[in-house]
Amino acid sequence: MNSIRYVDQMDLDGKRVLLRVDLNVPLRNGVVADDSRILAVLPTIEHIIGEGGMPIITSHLDRPGGKRVPELSLRPVSERLSELTGDKVAFVDEVTGPKAEAAASSLKEGSMLMLENLRFDPGEEVNDESFARSLASLADAYVDDAFANAHRAHASNVGVTRFIDDVAGGLLMKMELQALEGVLVAPERPLVVAIGGAKVSSKIATIEHLSKIADRLLLGGAMAFPFLRAKGIDVGDHRADGEAVERAKRMLDERPGSLVLPEDFAVDDGGRREVDVTGLPEDMNVLDIGPRTIDKFASELKAAGTIVWNGPMGKFEEEGFDVGTRMVAKAISASPAYSLVGGGDTNAALDRYEVRDRISYVSTGGGAFLEMLSGRELPAVKALVRQTVNA
Ligand code: ADP
Ligand code: MG
Repeated sequence: MNSIRYVDQMDLDGKRVLLRVDLNVPLRNGVVADDSRILAVLPTIEHIIGEGGMPIITSHLDRPGGKRVPELSLRPVSERLSELTGDKVAFVDEVTGPKAEAAASSLKEGSMLMLENLRFDPGEEVNDESFARSLASLADAYVDDAFANAHRAHASNVGVTRFIDDVAGGLLMKMELQALEGVLVAPERPLVVAIGGAKVSSKIATIEHLSKIADRLLLGGAMAFPFLRAKGIDVGDHRADGEAVERAKRMLDERPGSLVLPEDFAVDDGGRREVDVTGLPEDMNVLDIGPRTIDKFASELKAAGTIVWNGPMGKFEEEGFDVGTRMVAKAISASPAYSLVGGGDTNAALDRYEVRDRISYVSTGGGAFLEMLSGRELPAVKALVRQTVNA
């Protein structure tokens, strides 16, 4: 699929390496509350330093909207990175400009620099050419390890590659792309995919692509409604809109055997009440899959050669409505099949049910993960491919 170059194929000795990572971590009282995103890119940072390169680390943090927002400074992140590496990470409170240039040019072997939040500059999110050029001018080489941001075409991950010849993906990018390509291109069959979540519009394109490649596609959460309606089951108009129903119909026509739909749900009737899909009360929220569906999904997962999971089966944060999501988490953790899981809320479920270490690969991506599963090429990956071809 993608033939991009990775950082472990680069000659890094003595080079300044602009390294784009996703350190969009939660902060609490000015301190990093969860450092897993930092830990995820440490191998790349250490590799660059070990090979004699000097990382110039860039990331966004939250959504400052193109202006300086002091609470969204990356300084606390640089302090945490310093603790983790035992190295002094120099921090500049600029993204580009004279201070950043001076700090970059005085970098010494064995040390690293972190720049201020990329999104303090209005040029980042609009992929402004002159901003990209200024970023590129700080370094001799470029490494993109921000998989979770690779579905966005910004200056720091797309624009910049036009102004540096020596570009590559990082080690996290490599693991993410290889895990995804593995399941998309040559999965051990049967490939069983479970998709849940609350907003159909955000996942319908992903479901479409997966319906072509999965042997079994289990639809939980709110994802099932358009399909049930497309089969002529009255789920209530407010639960499935016209376009999604049309697309669901097409999928049911093309691959009727691969789509596995719920037979029953749990609704909120002041507590959990289980109902058949044909008897959904108009005015009650559907918050989980029901027991027959749970059994059916569990046996599909048990037979899988490869499992992909994104999206909770119900509102698992709420007492009584976590049964379906817990079952999927437990079924995957008990399965010997290769398993790939992604998504922010799905990640939270892995921790809640303590199954994270039983998953073959947990993606750090949400949007990027879904985009790849839709069969689309990520703009930031495409930018690396283009440079690799030109090199
Ligand atoms: P991810 O972030 O892993 O991609 P989503 O954002 O799609 O997952 O799903 C997130 C939320 O959807 C969960 O927090 C869950 O509570 C909610 N959810 C899932 N099914 C339902 C449902 N039937 N009704 C209401 N909320 C649901
Ligand atoms: Mg989410």
